[in-house]
Amino acid sequence: MNTTADPKVTYGDIVTVGHSGAYHGALPKMREAHIADYTYLVGGGGKFYATCGYCDYGVRTEFLHVDNGICFRCFGSGHGKLIGTEADVIRHAKQRAARARRAAAKREAEAERRLAELATKQAAWDAAHPEAAAIVAAVEAMQEDGATSADAIAKYGETAFDIAYQGASVLLTDAQADLMVKAYAEHQAKLAKAAESRYMDVDEKAKVTATGTVVVYATYESNYGYTSTLNALVVIELDGEHEGVTVKTTGTGQTLYGWERGDRVTVTGTVKKFEEYQGTKQTVLTRAKLTELVAD
Ligand SMILES: [Zn+2]
Repeated sequence: MNTTADPKVTYGDIVTVGHSGAYHGALPKMREAHIADYTYLVGGGGKFYATCGYCDYGVRTEFLHVDNGICFRCFGSGHGKLIGTEADVIRHAKQRAARARRAAAKREAEAERRLAELATKQAAWDAAHPEAAAIVAAVEAMQEDGATSADAIAKYGETAFDIAYQGASVLLTDAQADLMVKAYAEHQAKLAKAAESRYMDVDEKAKVTATGTVVVYATYESNYGYTSTLNALVVIELDGEHEGVTVKTTGTGQTLYGWERGDRVTVTGTVKKFEEYQGTKQTVLTRAKLTELVAD
C-alpha cells in the first residue's frame, strides 16, 4: 500500500443496521464504506461510523438464545462510534493502518529477538556438549540430505536417533545428552562387532563342537495343527578358534531350555545354513545340544 497518498473511499452495499430490540419502528439503513483494509458505515447526512466489530450489525447470531442475541457492545445499534466526515474517516483509517504496521513491526522485532536468544542458548549448549551437538547436527544433516528415519536409525541406533531428533528443535537436558552419546557409542560398538562377524569356517552339514557365551535366550510358541509347542532360541558367541563366530539354534531339544544371557556353554550340532541377522553373520545349527561349561 502507498503510505503517503490518502486512501480512497469505496462505497459498498446498503445494509440494514441494528437489533430490533434497540429500535422502535423500522431499523435504519446505512451504506458500507471501505477505506484501505477497513469497513465503515455511512448514515444519514454523510456521517461515518466505525463498525461495532463484535456483531453482525447489532446481532450476535451465535447468542440468539440470550436476549435474542442483542450485542452488548453496541447495545444493538449495529455500529461503533461516530467518526465524522469523509476526511475524518480517512484520517481514522490511516491511523489504524499506522498502528497495525507498528504492531506488526514490534511482533517481528520480538520474533527476531527470540530467535537470536535461542541461537545464543543453542550455541552455548553446543559448546558445553560438543559430542552430543555433533550427533544432533549429523542426524539433522542426514535428514536434510533426504535420508529416511530408518536410515538414520540404522546408523545412529534408535535411542540416539530419537533424542537427536528432539534435539533439533529443543535444548536437550544434560541427562538426555549423556544418554544419547552413550547409546550412540553402544550402537557403534554393535555395528563394529557385526561388521567383524564371520561364519564358521566349515561346510554345511558339518558336525561341530565349540564353546562360547549365550547372548540371546528366548522361547516362542509354534503351532502345528492343534498342537502348540514351546521352542527355544539360543544365540551363542563362540570363542577360542571360533572367535568372531555367532551360532544360532532353535528347536525343542531338552538341552536348549533354561539358559540365561552370559552362561558359558559347549555347543554341538550340525551346520544347517549361514545367514545374516541385522548385519551379523550367523551360523545356524540344527540338532544342537548345549552343556554348561564350568570354569576351572
Ligand atoms: Zn455490536
